[in-house]
Amino acid sequence: MGTIYRCGSRGALGGVRRPHLHPVPSVADRLNAERHELAGAACTQADPEMFFDGTPGAVDMAKQICGSCPVRARCLRLALERGEAFGIFGGLTAEERRDVQRKGVPAA
Ligand code: SF4
Repeated sequence: MGTIYRCGSRGALGGVRRPHLHPVPSVADRLNAERHELAGAACTQADPEMFFDGTPGAVDMAKQICGSCPVRARCLRLALERGEAFGIFGGLTAEERRDVQRKGVPAA
């Protein structure tokens, strides 16, 4: 299912440097796995790479799409449950999701 990327490799995550080897499901894998759970998601018509790009412009655009998403809360909850380490889910970056988990703020 997933692809193993080496530290610093470029791929589905658009050149994000990773500190160690780990499996990273492709964007297509993620979308296929979640399609039935997140029907109506606002990002279905967007470029999925935008959600993993990490550049400020891409992050802003992805968050704007999430802001109008009818399944945002469910998306965020699923990402928190899975411990998604990369990408924007539920309108939050990975760092923002870690903050939510650290602070125990309920995912709205
Ligand atoms: S909250 Fe964002 S990433 Fe999640 S399904 Fe909606 S648009 Fe896609």
